[in-house]
Amino acid sequence: MPAHAQDTTRLMDQKLAEIRAADILPEELVALVERTLPLQLKAREQARVQLPEPAACADEAALFAGSPLVLRQDFPRDLAQARELFAELLGLLARAGGPAAQAAEALGAAIAAGELDVDAALTALPRGDDEPFAAWRERLPESPRALDFLVTSALWPGLNLAAELLAPRLPENLPYERGNCPLCGSLPYISHLSGKEGHRFGVCSFCGHTHRVRRIGCAACGETASDKLKQFRVAEYPGVRVDVCETCQMYVKTLDYRELDKGLLPALDDMATVALDVLAQSHGYRRPTLSAWGF
Ligand SMILES: [Zn+2]
Ligand SMILES: [Zn+2]
Repeated sequence: MPAHAQDTTRLMDQKLAEIRAADILPEELVALVERTLPLQLKAREQARVQLPEPAACADEAALFAGSPLVLRQDFPRDLAQARELFAELLGLLARAGGPAAQAAEALGAAIAAGELDVDAALTALPRGDDEPFAAWRERLPESPRALDFLVTSALWPGLNLAAELLAPRLPENLPYERGNCPLCGSLPYISHLSGKEGHRFGVCSFCGHTHRVRRIGCAACGETASDKLKQFRVAEYPGVRVDVCETCQMYVKTLDYRELDKGLLPALDDMATVALDVLAQSHGYRRPTLSAWGF
């Protein structure tokens, strides 16, 4: 996300207006993101993380062989802040009305009863342990991603600060055959073409790091054979293409920021182009990751 708070606010307002104009996502969800993002940006400025010693990170040989710098379960995070932010976001959910408020009530009651351990959920996500999330998706069919949203959004500021601080440790000329994040190994939730040369970048679904990916290639499985890769565009969404892979049946949206002529806020652009997800999924393709907020 851009560093300048004022620019960010202006961009955010502009993109939220686009999302509302598209009229696909429910207003409650858009309003929730509208209230969540400023809390995350404030937390991002205040986050504190302890970086691992260089010796505890992957060495150059391992990085060139495709290992991430730090494994997800070891990735630095601000747990104290995530706990506080979790509570704040739970309050936002409670005030959102409808199924979201019911979900917040159920989650709040489970926390009070000692049945849901917030710290355990905050460590389960980096470990890749889906168990607590799967259980709550089942229990809250009307708002299945409530816990995913709370944990993903609460962890983001610390993880993203760690990503910014760790990025300078990556060697230059690191190969990018695979679409995985070189810092944490996760897949991108979206990609974009930027800069004079129009290089393609993935935005990591876990730490938010922006990293180079192949211009033509599947960011999910690494397929590069042109007969297995397809792209489609929709007239209503100029500057956005969907990169589809026949090998793994996954797709990743690619925003062309050179054509879009506006600032980068990929998490919101992802929401603004949800019509393309609907289309891709109606053709049987799957998204490799959730949104930046875990839904
Ligand atoms: Zn990452
Ligand atoms: Zn693929």
